Amino acid sequence: MRKFIVAGNWKMNTTPKEGKTLAKAVLKKAKLGKVKVIFGPPFTHLDKIQRLIKGRKGFATAAQNMHQADSGAYTGEISADMIRAIGTKYVIIGHSERRQYFKETNAILLAKTKKALENKRKVIFCCGESLGTREKGTHFQYVIRQLTSTIFKLSPEEFKDIIIAYEPIWAIGTGKTASPEQAQDMHFAIRAAVKKKMGEKLAEKVSILYGGSVKPANALEIFKQPDVDGGLVGGAALNADDFVKIIDAARKTDMGR
Ligand code: PEP
Repeated sequence: MRKFIVAGNWKMNTTPKEGKTLAKAVLKKAKLGKVKVIFGPPFTHLDKIQRLIKGRKGFATAAQNMHQADSGAYTGEISADMIRAIGTKYVIIGHSERRQYFKETNAILLAKTKKALENKRKVIFCCGESLGTREKGTHFQYVIRQLTSTIFKLSPEEFKDIIIAYEPIWAIGTGKTASPEQAQDMHFAIRAAVKKKMGEKLAEKVSILYGGSVKPANALEIFKQPDVDGGLVGGAALNADDFVKIIDAARKTDMGR
């Protein structure tokens, strides 16, 4: 049975105090069922939020990024070992904003992923096409190529700690969401590619999240798609009530599976 996951990527938002208030409100109101809920705060309060969720079943934290080296002269960077030391289980790697603004190539993303896995962290690996690529009609090839150049180079043993997040760039922070059919078609193609590369067992097991303007109004329809196993949520994760409603949509869908 695949794990249903709702992960919030807070990006460069919230002070430690605001983050704590946000997480506390979600912890108080959300009913998870078997859904896993992940908070992705900035590094300044990752430890604080990790302490807050300690002992709360179903909750976890994610780092939004990490460096591929073990340690050293990399001013401003955070290592897998540091993330591990505070008990944060997940790392988001390959977000389109990291690829675009910080020039993270597939080679860098693979190195980061391997380092996170070596340190027993689970990786939420993001992929997704631009509007131009979708309009050209080459989005399936593009996304599969992103995966072929990165996480498909892992061994099946490593791959079992991967969660894939399909995030069409044209839907991130734009208010435009992929239709449930567009999401399903891509998730189906990704799962088929995982099956070809990693085998049926891992293809059935890997959670594939959708990301791109997920909100309470569209979450249920997207989550109902058979190959969608939850969401990576940006903007709506900053509002406790909205995030709780999205978690609720996930719980309802998960219960019906
Ligand atoms: C994201 O940044 O991962 C994201 C999906 O953002 P938003 O929900 O705001 O589109």
